[in-house]
Amino acid sequence: MPFCPQCNAEYKLEVSMCSDCHVVLVPQPIQTEVTEYGDWDTLESVPNELAGNILQGVLEEDGIPARLRCHEAPNYGGVKGNIWQSEWGDLLVPANLLPQARACLKTYFDSLQDR
Ligand SMILES: [Zn+2]
Repeated sequence: MPFCPQCNAEYKLEVSMCSDCHVVLVPQPIQTEVTEYGDWDTLESVPNELAGNILQGVLEEDGIPARLRCHEAPNYGGVKGNIWQSEWGDLLVPANLLPQARACLKTYFDSLQDR
């Protein structure tokens, strides 16, 4: 199927030009430069934002991208619906980097205990 090299829209075989961009279609979609990490998976629950930021920094120093996902809904006034869920949020890493990220955090926690 032909694709537009500018907007990546897919066209039928008989179409040779993108109706939106007015450019000639190419046989294959253009690979985007953006690195796609796929699914993000929960690595660790974090008790507060500070701990989350520290662990995120530890991972990123090791070249592992990390994200923080806060459990608290912004319009919830900071009151959690479930009192047993005391964690502030989750530390997320790309699912395919999960074993690496676990090893990285283990090394970090071990180094804390050595001191
Ligand atoms: Zn187009």
